[in-house]
Amino acid sequence: MVRLERLLLANQAFVDSQAYEEFIATKVPAEKTLILSCMDARLSALLLPALGLKNGDVHVIKSAGAIITDPYGSLMRSILVSIYEFEVEHIFVIGHDDCGMAHLDGWSMVDKMRSRGISDEIIDAVHHHVDLENWLQKIGHSDTSIKKTVQLIKKHPLLPTNVEVVGLCLEPKTGGIRIIEAS
Ligand SMILES: [Zn+2]
Repeated sequence: MVRLERLLLANQAFVDSQAYEEFIATKVPAEKTLILSCMDARLSALLLPALGLKNGDVHVIKSAGAIITDPYGSLMRSILVSIYEFEVEHIFVIGHDDCGMAHLDGWSMVDKMRSRGISDEIIDAVHHHVDLENWLQKIGHSDTSIKKTVQLIKKHPLLPTNVEVVGLCLEPKTGGIRIIEAS
């Protein structure tokens, strides 16, 4: 557990030095905004300052490719909680250029599962629940998938009419943003 020990040491130093003080915020997002973004590591500390935002300003939820596939899954539930329980009125779906999800190969990923010990029997059983390879398959061009997710949110029957939904694409080196779909 060397990794955990390193994290715990860093955490102790963080708390002891009161480094948390600059992050103190309220629970309700100050900017009444939610961002759905990709889990890409390059975005983890880049995203908020690139948009002039700081800790506490927004809710951030992440999924691979900034994609929602299920209108009644946990991501959409998070958005509805954000709107109805935390006064959020603005939603930004922020994908990015050079997204790993754009080129994902579902068949190759299932081969990797086999090579790491997941048996054919288990993979066959999972096929009864989901079309596994297609479920894991690439999303194609990020602009198209951002538009799809924006539309899924906009057309959700439980979305109030006063909530703005915007699609953006971020360049992961410079943090530059371009508009994919305005409200
Ligand atoms: Zn990505």
